[in-house]
Amino acid sequence: MTGRNSIVIEPGSLKKEKASAHLKASLCYQCKRCTNGCPVTFAMDIYPDKVIRLVNLGRMERVLNCNTIWICSACETCTTRCPNEVDIAGVMDYLKEQAIREGVKIPQPRTYAFHEAFLKDIQKRGRVFEGGMMGSYMIRSGELFRKIRNGSIIEDIVLGFKLFLKGRMPLLPEGIKGKKEIKDLIK
Ligand code: SF4
Ligand code: SF4
Repeated sequence: MTGRNSIVIEPGSLKKEKASAHLKASLCYQCKRCTNGCPVTFAMDIYPDKVIRLVNLGRMERVLNCNTIWICSACETCTTRCPNEVDIAGVMDYLKEQAIREGVKIPQPRTYAFHEAFLKDIQKRGRVFEGGMMGSYMIRSGELFRKIRNGSIIEDIVLGFKLFLKGRMPLLPEGIKGKKEIKDLIK
C-alpha cells in the first residue's frame, strides 16, 4: 500500500482535494461502471460507486467503517472500466490505510491479517514467498490455532504438498534485484 495521504475531503471544497490529482475521485459522475464490473459486490455493504460518492461528499466516517474497503480484492477492474480514470482501487487502498491510522475497528480482521502478511513478505524480498506468507497469515489471523484445534490443518498440509508436487509451492524463497525499490515504495 502506498502512502497516499491527501484524500480527506471537506464537503463543498472538492477543488482543494489533492486526491483528485492522482486518484481523481472528484471526476466521478456516478455512471456505476465500476460497480457493474466488480466481482465481489455481493459481499459489500456499500457499492464502489457509492464509496466514491461518499468520499466526494466528505463522509469519511461512513466509508472508513464500511466492510467494502476490506472486501475489495484490489483487482482493479473498476479502475480499468472507469471512463473518467478514477483510481477506485487506489481509493479503496487509501481508505484501508486511513482506517488503520485512525484506529477504526476493522470488520474483516482476517483480511487485514492477510494484507499485513502479504505486504511484509513483499517488503522482505520484493516478491511473495507463498509458504512464508501463508504461515505468517495463519499466525496473525489466529487461523493456525483454530485449524489445529478442529483438525482441518491436515487438509492444508495435504494441499500444500500437492502444490509442491506440481511445482507451485517452492520450498525456498527467492528475491528480486529491485527489492530495495519495492521496500521504499511500500514505506
Ligand atoms: S466508473 Fe468512474 S465515473 Fe463511473 S461511477 Fe465509478 S468511479 Fe464514478
Ligand atoms: S478493485 Fe476492488 S472495488 Fe474495484 S473491481 Fe476489484 S474488487 Fe471491486
